[in-house]
Amino acid sequence: MMGSESSQVRKKYCVLDTSSLIKALRKNVLSEGCIYVLPTNVLNEIKDAETRYLLDANKRFFSILGPSKRNLERVLEVARDLGLSKILSETDISVVATALELIERGHDVIVYTEDYAIQNICAFMKIKFRSVLNRKIKVILRVLKKCKVCGELYPEDLSECPFCGSKEYVLERRRISRLNTN
Ligand SMILES: [Zn+2]
Repeated sequence: MMGSESSQVRKKYCVLDTSSLIKALRKNVLSEGCIYVLPTNVLNEIKDAETRYLLDANKRFFSILGPSKRNLERVLEVARDLGLSKILSETDISVVATALELIERGHDVIVYTEDYAIQNICAFMKIKFRSVLNRKIKVILRVLKKCKVCGELYPEDLSECPFCGSKEYVLERRRISRLNTN
């Protein structure tokens, strides 16, 4: 990165998921200090006329970005590791991948999401996140399957116990770490 390339205040890049986008538009809380980035998938999920209208009326705030396949795969891999690959949608994954994309370009990035699974993966990947409604997770979790027959723990994306072959399980949430809340 260049040194003091300009006297301008560096703008924050805010990546919005669908729920936070709708809330931010309806509560009219978009800030001039931010560039709001919408992953292509998020834009495609906006179907209702009111939100479409608000989006159009505020379009100067927004830019659209599709994340690279490499970053999508990176996020998907972490999602699998955390046991969230079935819980997170394709759009959720692309929100986090878009944030990674912007971080790689040297920007200051915050993900806006109300979704605890997205918050969980962001926290794990050390990506800053906020919630429009100010609801944030306090711990990072990993989701695992616990076999009802032999009691072993195994990854959530496996369809049967690798130890005994049973398909009967309960989901277990294990705490990885606690977050500093502020
Ligand atoms: Zn088993």
